[in-house]
Amino acid sequence: MTLNNEEINRYSRHLTLPEVGMGGQLKLKEAKVLMIGAGGLGSPLGMYLGAVGIGKLGLVDFDVVDHTNLHRQIAHAASDEGRPKVHSLCDTILAGNSNIEVEVHNIRLERENVLELFGQYDIIADGSDNFETRYLINDAAYFTKKPLVSASIFRFQGQITIFDPESGGPCYRCLYSEPPPAALVPS
Ligand SMILES: [Zn+2]
Repeated sequence: MTLNNEEINRYSRHLTLPEVGMGGQLKLKEAKVLMIGAGGLGSPLGMYLGAVGIGKLGLVDFDVVDHTNLHRQIAHAASDEGRPKVHSLCDTILAGNSNIEVEVHNIRLERENVLELFGQYDIIADGSDNFETRYLINDAAYFTKKPLVSASIFRFQGQITIFDPESGGPCYRCLYSEPPPAALVPS
């Protein structure tokens, strides 16, 4: 794998960083990241991962852009209202960097599709907004041996961590063995 002339120019500030350099940039280009959620977390995440040159980004969401999303889900424009979020986010990412590949999965993540999907990527990034999905993602990442970058927000609080049982660390169920009762928690 190599960089074309436009990419060498685009990523020049990376290439001059000793911590990144050509080797690091090529690692980014070879990487395949699957993002769950194209909303409040997925918007900035997708835009940044696309801008830095992750070679392949997968976007999973089944929701459509709503007027109440616009004040924080910054990948979506007012003209995107009613469109699937994965398409809106994909367009925004590619408008910034057309060197990369974006694959949209306009689906609800389920037991039946999650393992096959995770198997196609190197790293899973969870920006989902409900516990059912969060546990499903944890279990699928565990069984497919993929590092899981897990983030969540509630009002003014945020949490982010990386679960990588393959390197000896815990998984999400090690921290929280059971989902909380649905009636007690907000999404
Ligand atoms: Zn565990």
